[in-house]
Amino acid sequence: MKIQIEKSNLVVFESALFKTTTTLLIGNDYLVLFDPNWLPLEIEFITNYIAKIKKDRKEYLLFTHSDYDHIIGYGAFKEYETIASQNFVNNPKQNKIVNQINVFDDSHYINRNYKIEYPLINHIIDCDEQVLRLGESKFLFWQAVGHNPDSLLILDTMNNTLVVGDYLSNVEFPYIYTSVKEYKLTLDKIENIISNYNVEYLISGHGDFTSDRIEMLKRLKDSRDYINLLEDSVINNKTFNFKKVMERYHFPIIMKEFHDGNIRLAKKEINT
Ligand SMILES: [Zn+2]
Repeated sequence: MKIQIEKSNLVVFESALFKTTTTLLIGNDYLVLFDPNWLPLEIEFITNYIAKIKKDRKEYLLFTHSDYDHIIGYGAFKEYETIASQNFVNNPKQNKIVNQINVFDDSHYINRNYKIEYPLINHIIDCDEQVLRLGESKFLFWQAVGHNPDSLLILDTMNNTLVVGDYLSNVEFPYIYTSVKEYKLTLDKIENIISNYNVEYLISGHGDFTSDRIEMLKRLKDSRDYINLLEDSVINNKTFNFKKVMERYHFPIIMKEFHDGNIRLAKKEINT
């Protein structure tokens, strides 16, 4: 399995599918695993990796949000204490998400050695700047609605690492499932966090992590530029220059579908 970065306190694994990341934060007395995914051999790789470095560290499993690609590995880490947002726990579409995983596995002839189920959560995050002490570190959380209704931004203040779920990716423009307005507010929150805290590593759910401040700000700008174009095209009934946006990205067929989804959502939101 590809490893983007491997340090004593931080490992970022990358799946062969959708460049989806699995982050592992390692403290002296804790470890936090984020969104383990996708394929059985990849999950096994991560499990074996942790078995080697775990020692007597307390294990936490954190879900940045409930999209099926981010909860697909849950069953392999059932003994971990889990963390997610209140909206994740209240998600009315739990059955649908579990079904997406089953359909994915079925259509690719994938067997897993664990049961597919929606995660049960031990530590629930329900506000902004919520603090959770995990081992010797202080974790801070913010709600991050927009991409979907139950995303979180997570800052490990000891490792100066910010995990942003499916925001600020360098391989995809904003995928907006909930609200353009909320998405923009989440971008503002990320900007505030980057300005107010020492963020050494920014890790997105798809694509490359970055430790470069200029790159972090560039990704913010790219997201905002895309949303401005989206709003302008919907409000003023202009043609969206998709080709131009795709000069920055690589997967025009699937991304056109997500873009069309964004247009539909923006139209509905702006016209109501
Ligand atoms: Zn995702």
